[in-house]
Amino acid sequence: MEDKIDVSRLFGQDVFDESTMRQRLPKEVFKKLKATMNSNKELDSSIAESVAAAMKDWAVEKGATHYTHWFQPMTNITAEKHDSFIAPTGDGTVIMEFSGKELVKGEPDASSFPSGGIRATFEARGYTAWDPTSCAFIKDGTLYIPTAFCSYTGEALDKKTPLLRSMDALSDQAMRILRLFGNTSSKRVVATVGAEQEYFLIDKSVYEKRKDLIYTGRTLFGAPPLKGQEMDDHYFGALNSRVHTYMRDLDDALWRLGVMSKTEHNEVAPGQHEMAPIFSSANAAADQNQLTMEVMQKTALRHGMVCLLHEKPFDGVNGSGKHDNWALSTDDGQNLLNPGKSPMENVQFLTFLAAVIKSVDEYPELLRLSVATAGNDHRLGGNEAPPAVVSVFLGEELDAVVEAIISGGTVPKKSTDFDLGVLALPHFKKDSTDRNRTSPFAFTGNKFEFRMVGSSQNVATANIILNTIVAEELRQFADELEFASAEGGEAFNRDAFEKALHDLLVRTFREHKRIIFNGNAYDEAWLKEAERRGLPNLVSSVDAIPHFEDEKSIKVFTSHKVFSEREIHARTEILLENYYKTINIEAHTVTDMVMHQYAPAVMEFAKFLCDTAVSKKSIGLDASVEIQAAEKVNTLEAAMVKGCGELNELLGQTSSFSDAKETAVFFHDKVLAKMNEIRSVVDELEAVVGDDFWPVPTYGDILFSVK
Ligand code: ADP
Ligand code: MG
Repeated sequence: MEDKIDVSRLFGQDVFDESTMRQRLPKEVFKKLKATMNSNKELDSSIAESVAAAMKDWAVEKGATHYTHWFQPMTNITAEKHDSFIAPTGDGTVIMEFSGKELVKGEPDASSFPSGGIRATFEARGYTAWDPTSCAFIKDGTLYIPTAFCSYTGEALDKKTPLLRSMDALSDQAMRILRLFGNTSSKRVVATVGAEQEYFLIDKSVYEKRKDLIYTGRTLFGAPPLKGQEMDDHYFGALNSRVHTYMRDLDDALWRLGVMSKTEHNEVAPGQHEMAPIFSSANAAADQNQLTMEVMQKTALRHGMVCLLHEKPFDGVNGSGKHDNWALSTDDGQNLLNPGKSPMENVQFLTFLAAVIKSVDEYPELLRLSVATAGNDHRLGGNEAPPAVVSVFLGEELDAVVEAIISGGTVPKKSTDFDLGVLALPHFKKDSTDRNRTSPFAFTGNKFEFRMVGSSQNVATANIILNTIVAEELRQFADELEFASAEGGEAFNRDAFEKALHDLLVRTFREHKRIIFNGNAYDEAWLKEAERRGLPNLVSSVDAIPHFEDEKSIKVFTSHKVFSEREIHARTEILLENYYKTINIEAHTVTDMVMHQYAPAVMEFAKFLCDTAVSKKSIGLDASVEIQAAEKVNTLEAAMVKGCGELNELLGQTSSFSDAKETAVFFHDKVLAKMNEIRSVVDELEAVVGDDFWPVPTYGDILFSVK
């Protein structure tokens, strides 16, 4: 019989979490550390020594021998460099040691991480700094310490630093609004995130036979399978036993690491699945999602499978995203995006709602570029994922409220829950039934769900931008409301505040209503309507990324101290570089597979046809079928090989470009286009060449490989 798992004991077993800290740290130290964690303020350096010692003892008891500063450079991975705890005693023996200094600060030689020109190799030093707001944990015998990563001159070279800065900015501005509403108890507002993760599982044996999957994470070729997702029989379908065992194992591993994996189910495409965790602070959620992706991949290997996190591993079936559920919570537990019960709570909710709507309408380019990667470009706008046009879905009931506010507080009759309360704003109930799966940015009852994020992306990027643009709108609101409510030199004039707030809300909803769209965002008609409304449609990454350097963007990031101008230019360059380097690898894989796999196989097949034709003819049989087939194969083969020659020529031209944007545009317009041309020829060949001759597993073989 299977051993019963004691989940509550298992959960967080390998995490140096709050309860472990409380147990193991001197009371005073624990209190100081807790204060640092809650306020995001600088660590009291006097406690580092004591925390380090406790952490090390705990880790060593659990079998750890090494520690690592764990950070998120501007690549697609998390980085780690392991040091052991050993220290010589002088008599040839060693003891296990870990100092406060080693906990707080690391100095990896990090010259090979992308810095967008910020750090030349001659000043290669980078620093990692302990982030006490995300818990340390043990994995594979190593103590992992979440850290921020910055240059010698203090510029952020990672994704965590700006995320923490954006959370601070958001908290500062949100607190100003809460104070105006009379909240005196909350000390901080935290952006909360729950990142739903989609992925594919395929059998390792088919993976190993596909160079495109190995080197690029997606298939660069492949005719549609005989059966795809048209029967809708995979979504929420019963888990096959191999997948089920995998998910149980995955949960087990994630729970140990304190990741609150909650929901697992089959997704739309064959072989596609999803895991949803319980939400936490944006910072912890980003760290945990990075960890989740890693554990998903490792666990799959243990089960003889490969976990694909690419946004579009297969053409013609759904790609994978990462729904970024986002809300705002006070440190004393109030969700600011939860429509309240009292009219006043409702008005406060509407204020935050207005800020979010305004932020999306004013900075759609930033949200779009936060999800701009070569991989995600294949997914957005593919009638399976939101289009590249950013819009907000509110749902019928909330939309009626917004409309009522704009038109002067008249309330639709059918809704009995509405009453005209304070400020003549309608009272309404949370709507939990309204569902729209096609919107890029949907209100789902007490949070927003940003659905454009790609499955392989670090969620930090999207949340840095979301936090910053909402902070900016809250700043504007707070400036206006604080000024108005100080009318007549009073400390707080309630009537003036209420009037100013009323005007602000009516004006904001009226001016930014165009960003709200409650219909089907997959529909072509919406793209036309969006254009009429003046909403940007940044189809590809190369259209979106350069907007990072717009004057408006620089202003919002620098004024909230999330990015310096130098960091923005560096990041723009890195994003563009990541984009074209990805396509460059794909292009080389295309020519390699064609020349070394498809072309030889097709020649074999052509030879087989010709031999058959000759044999048939020698005994007087009609060989026209073979001859026609051979002609077709021959023509396609020639087109395929010619295409590769042209692709190589294009790649040769790219070395002459010096500008990242120019290079990225060339890769998008020319290289990617040529790759697609070659693919369509190969896919056509796949349909005519015999199974025994085809050199790689087909879509059918791959998508249905996990049995
Ligand atoms: P839905 O019904 O909208 O899919 P779920 O309750 O299933 O909502 O949650 C989906 C995801 O949203 C989960 O990862 C969950 O943790 C996350 N989530 C729920 N509430 C919040 C919140 N206040 N802030 C951030 N994420 C949240
Ligand atoms: Mg969801």
